[in-house]
Amino acid sequence: MEEELGAMTEKLEVLRRDLADRGLADSIAELQQHVERLRGLAKSTPTRRPKVQDMSAEVVDSNPYSRLMALQRMGIVENYESIRDFSVAIVGIGGVGSVAAEMLTRCGIGRLLLYDYDTVELANMNRLFFRPDQVGMTKTDAAVQTLSDINPDVILESYSLNITTVKGFETFVESLKRKSSRMSAHCVDLVLSCVDNYEARMVVNQACNELSQTWMESGVSEDAVSGHIQLLIPGETACFACAPPLVVASGVDERTLKREGVCAASLPTTMGVVAGLLVQNALKYLLKFGEVSPYLGYNSLKDFFPTMEMKPNPQCSNAACLERQREYILAKPARDAAIKAKVDAEASSKVTGPIHVDNEWNISVVDDSEGQSSHSDISDALPQGLVRELPSADGYPLEEPGPSFDDLDELRRQLEALNAA
Ligand SMILES: [Zn+2]
Repeated sequence: MEEELGAMTEKLEVLRRDLADRGLADSIAELQQHVERLRGLAKSTPTRRPKVQDMSAEVVDSNPYSRLMALQRMGIVENYESIRDFSVAIVGIGGVGSVAAEMLTRCGIGRLLLYDYDTVELANMNRLFFRPDQVGMTKTDAAVQTLSDINPDVILESYSLNITTVKGFETFVESLKRKSSRMSAHCVDLVLSCVDNYEARMVVNQACNELSQTWMESGVSEDAVSGHIQLLIPGETACFACAPPLVVASGVDERTLKREGVCAASLPTTMGVVAGLLVQNALKYLLKFGEVSPYLGYNSLKDFFPTMEMKPNPQCSNAACLERQREYILAKPARDAAIKAKVDAEASSKVTGPIHVDNEWNISVVDDSEGQSSHSDISDALPQGLVRELPSADGYPLEEPGPSFDDLDELRRQLEALNAA
């Protein structure tokens, strides 16, 4: 753009001289103003990087994916590039959802569907992601603006709608079922719920139970100091209606709790942590590495991360949940056979020897079991969330060896010297 403008300016200068001779100075001034305006626009428009055809593992400063592809080389992820095949829907682009969207965008996710009907306000500036110059924009539009600049490879779909209305719910369900024309086989692979109220969670729950869609729920407490994430697989784990939160179980209408003028507290730290836990779990689920947490809590006051598993409730009030539970039970023999076949196949093809023959970065992994063998008869198991206040006995350093006779002689000489002085 800069080059083009430079050439334009030169041409204008020639024209200006030519036309000045003919007494057309006003038209020239007008044209010049136009060029200046364009020049200003060119300066304020950030230059967007070109799209990348294939993710490369090449270690060069200009490769936006080199650090991510290194996960594959280090044996954490088997096929990182498969992230481009996945579509993730994020419902609620607030303090957690916007950060989750940014993380997935930077990770190079294939497609993101963003849902929210709110606009950006100055009151949101205590959180991450949105900027003051975006105040008044819809959260989905503002997110698309920022995210497409960060990574133009990600397909972004913005849905400014309220999923708790009848029409909104229909559009929401249809959009989850729709395949992207630019991506081959996939509809949505995972739904992340980042909404801030019970009603919207129940709507996401209903849609996902109907579609048999795996989703992850997230939440941050109203006092801003704790949060949680939860994996929900219809029929296999508890749905949101199987185990309603305490406040609803006791029959209190959530809407009456939200009094006019009284606003919930929020911290960018807690929301950032919860978004990080959520996206980490999502990456593990999609790229198949590590263990996917069924439920992970976060209590920031005690730095306590409780975990648990929740089975579906056979008396769940949600009909679609009961339907999925039935399907899950019926599919058990086939599932067991598949697991057995996989175990047998792994056992027969077990290869001994190093997994990574080439190790160009000379990275070595320390064996966790080393140094623990001496107290292996003592159980190290502590209740969940508790840590040892003192290091275990093996951790104490050995007593310093006493001074040798040579040292004693030296000490005596020094003392005598001092006495003599
Ligand atoms: Zn249920």
